[in-house]
Amino acid sequence: MTAELQSSPGRIDSPWREDGSRRWMYPRVSKGFWLNARRSLAYLLLVVFAGLPYLQIRGKPAILLDLPRREFTLFGWTFLPTDTLLLALLLVTIVLGIFLATALVGRVWCGWMCPQTVYMEFVYRPIERLFDGPPGVRHSPGKHRTPIRTVAKYAVYLVVSAFLAHTFLAYFVGVDNLARWMQQSPIHHPGAFLVMLAATALMMFNFSYFREQTCIVACPYGRFQSVMLDPDSLIVSYDPRRGEPRGKGKFRERDGQRLGDCVDCGLCVDTCPTGIDIRNGLQLECIACTQCIDACDRVMQRLNMKPGLIRFSSQARIEGQQGRLLRPRIILYPAVMLVLLSTLVVTLANQQAAHVTLLRGPGMPFHEIGDGQISNQLRIKIRNRSGQQAQYHIEIMGDGPARLVIEDNPMVIEDGQTKTQSLLITAPRSAFQQGGHVIDLRITDGRSYDQQLPYRLMGPQGPAVSAARDGDTGFAGVFSRVAKTVTFCKIAS
Ligand code: SF4
Ligand code: SF4
Repeated sequence: MTAELQSSPGRIDSPWREDGSRRWMYPRVSKGFWLNARRSLAYLLLVVFAGLPYLQIRGKPAILLDLPRREFTLFGWTFLPTDTLLLALLLVTIVLGIFLATALVGRVWCGWMCPQTVYMEFVYRPIERLFDGPPGVRHSPGKHRTPIRTVAKYAVYLVVSAFLAHTFLAYFVGVDNLARWMQQSPIHHPGAFLVMLAATALMMFNFSYFREQTCIVACPYGRFQSVMLDPDSLIVSYDPRRGEPRGKGKFRERDGQRLGDCVDCGLCVDTCPTGIDIRNGLQLECIACTQCIDACDRVMQRLNMKPGLIRFSSQARIEGQQGRLLRPRIILYPAVMLVLLSTLVVTLANQQAAHVTLLRGPGMPFHEIGDGQISNQLRIKIRNRSGQQAQYHIEIMGDGPARLVIEDNPMVIEDGQTKTQSLLITAPRSAFQQGGHVIDLRITDGRSYDQQLPYRLMGPQGPAVSAARDGDTGFAGVFSRVAKTVTFCKIAS
């Protein structure tokens, strides 16, 4: 910055006192263009945050983060645990999008769209002002504060926090489960009830006590901003070349020196939700909420001076240099995002209508079941992603000696559901060479899914006796004998 900044003795310019203790913030509301724009967006976002779990896209919730099943549904697409790469592509694209937005318009996410700010500034603080009255100067609390009003205020906080906790839970369990649980006694779903209680307590702690400390201390994004911003990024900035030397007084002169446009009224600090003085330059605590712009513009207006002493500008422009829109990072980020997004879209478009996993059964790798037959127990897991109910038929390809024994064939699976069942494959001992015999298993729904999966059956290396005989009493032996019966029935039929 070109002009030397003066400090204002005794004035608040930090969320902490000199001894490091916390300073409670009671920011005054500054009306103006930016507040109107931010408020409109905040109300829209409040509806979006509360409504997203109810929204259905392609018959699925818009967002459902099913942690126990490790399945994430985002805007109609379900990412399974096997789709880690796709999810990683999506997350990296989102992170790059945040980098790009920060490089262009600074911390607009923090001040305008982050749920923390939206709920804090447009739900909890208005409730506080309703009960306490408008905040006083230098972040002093409202004058209407009484013990009864304070109890009532916290009661309202609790109701709002419980609502937010239920909304939060809906993102993880879905609105149907949530509605069902809400109609039942907590005894029927103690785990979910405890999570809801913990979420309510967390919301209360965050919005009634921790507040702006979340942005300043807990959130890592603010700490990364110095590497994401460059001198041409838009930030909320004070123009020291115009404002300094600051000073009060109608006649803009002091000791024969002409004063700058800043009348040192302190309103930009009084309105700041993180309690900083933007005249000290860009600081980690600034969430780009633009309240100081509205405050200062009103002062300028009243004094018949040009608004914009505090404005959205870049560091380069504030210092009188020519600003640049196109910089290497502004080209690089979208280019990488385009590649990642294209890969994601192409992969999603070509995604198969089912996800099939073949697993070896538990226990011994194979069993000798008499008549020179060797059996392998398998498990097949099918996830239907076709968008409708499907019937998956399973068969062994070719004229080989292997035979398939399966209870449900075809497997009828609803859209979005997963089914697992055991199957047995038998083959004569003579088919095994070097302990193995490769077959091709075909799985088809007769419409959009038709796949052949090679599978290597395990068998004896030579003429030695098998791993499990009919006399075995363990699970493998019992299953082997049951399977033998079924096998012979099926083969005979
Ligand atoms: S300095 Fe201005 S823009 Fe930054 S947080 Fe404070 S009021 Fe908001
Ligand atoms: S609101 Fe404007 S005039 Fe008042 S102290 Fe802040 S920068 Fe100076």
